[in-house]
Amino acid sequence: MSTAEVASAAAEWLARHAPAHEPPGPPPLTPFEPMSAEAERDLVTRGRRWQAHKAAHGWAAPSLPAELGGRDGGRAADVAFWDAESRHHLPTHLFEVTTRMVLPTLVHWAPEKTADITRLVRGEDLWCQLFSEPGCGSDLAAIRTRAVRRDDGRWVVDGQKVWTSWAHLADRGYLLARTGGGHAGLTAFAIDMAAPGVEVRPIVQATGAATFNEVFLDGVVLPPEAVIGPPGAGWKVALTTLMNERLAVGPDQIPFAALRDEAGARGSLADPDIAAALGAVRARRRIVEQLRRGMLRAVSEGADPGPEGSVAKLCLADGVRAAAEAARAILGADLGTESPLSRFALSWPGIKNAGGTDEIQKSIVADRVLGLPRERERREEDHRARRRR
Ligand SMILES: Cc1cc2nc3c(=O)[nH]c(=O)nc-3n(C[C@H](O)[C@H](O)[C@H](O)COP(=O)(O)OP(=O)(O)OC[C@H]3O[C@@H](n4cnc5c(N)ncnc54)[C@H](O)[C@@H]3O)c2cc1C
Repeated sequence: MSTAEVASAAAEWLARHAPAHEPPGPPPLTPFEPMSAEAERDLVTRGRRWQAHKAAHGWAAPSLPAELGGRDGGRAADVAFWDAESRHHLPTHLFEVTTRMVLPTLVHWAPEKTADITRLVRGEDLWCQLFSEPGCGSDLAAIRTRAVRRDDGRWVVDGQKVWTSWAHLADRGYLLARTGGGHAGLTAFAIDMAAPGVEVRPIVQATGAATFNEVFLDGVVLPPEAVIGPPGAGWKVALTTLMNERLAVGPDQIPFAALRDEAGARGSLADPDIAAALGAVRARRRIVEQLRRGMLRAVSEGADPGPEGSVAKLCLADGVRAAAEAARAILGADLGTESPLSRFALSWPGIKNAGGTDEIQKSIVADRVLGLPRERERREEDHRARRRR
């Protein structure tokens, strides 16, 4: 099937199957909408049900072979399906780390873990990503959480992670830990979030939501088969994840329609400042749409997701910033009231920084897309130039 054929089959299937799974109410403008514990549990249950329903019909991960719940469609089929799925209001966002980051990583680095892959695809396991630590977000080489191999082949993990989205709801954790020195001293593991020694503490955000957490790991014992990829290959395993994370960049996080509707309801569309702010948002949303189309085309031609994804991530961050500015202009003195748009305006830095800051994306674009001298070489050259003066 070509990508266009997958997209059209997906749209047709979704038109028939999505409505029964759509949660009540409009889609949230920000992933940081405050929710009661009960509402969160309900969203997880709905997400699992939707994931299982897709798996039963071969749509949970169309790239996978049929025996794992897919339809042998290649990576482009996954992205084409996500695009079609994003036109509906479905309970998917808690599962994005699971299906868009952990799944392609397992398929690439641990294809023998068919039981883990199958549980994930069917929505039986919700995963979280345990990479960032206090003092180590951008620079994963600085990871300090340690995994030490015992004589019986088991690993013992000690350390702390932070900003772990949905860890308080997750069944499994995808952990990056230090098993030696330098880049070759990182190893990726799958951990059970209910294992003795795992403690999850929520972090409350400005909107009142607590979507991410601190995770403390105290003598957590892992079996030898918990390793994802070869021991010491954690850096490369993590790169596969991060490249796939960029592939998930799309225009939906730039809420143009909600801004336009709010401005219309307030009779502000003729205000030239607000019209200009809306124009800036619309233009940036279009740019992200086009970049996403380009990424999809490259993947459908067989390319792996590459550093070009960082260009899309940068443009997304710029679009989210522009949308927050427009929200502030439209809301005026109502900014700070209890409304979805107000909460979006509060939460935009989180949306912008999740998945890597602008500075880091710019360095990736400079080094790996534009081929400029690497950051360390640039610093050394600056240093030599200063000494010459
Ligand atoms: C909403 C949200 C959800 C998240 N979910 C997860 C999750 O589920 N799992 C997980 O592991 N992590 C998660 N994160 C963490 C996220 O990946 C990090 O916040 C991000 O990588 C930045 O790391 P940091 O916060 O430690 O900032 P730092 O790395 O400390 O950076 C601080 C500042 O210094 C700048 N900086 C750092 N290094 C350089 C450099 N070399 N050159 C130029 N500037 C630099 C950065 O751009 C930034 O402005 C989440 C973050 C957010 C906001």
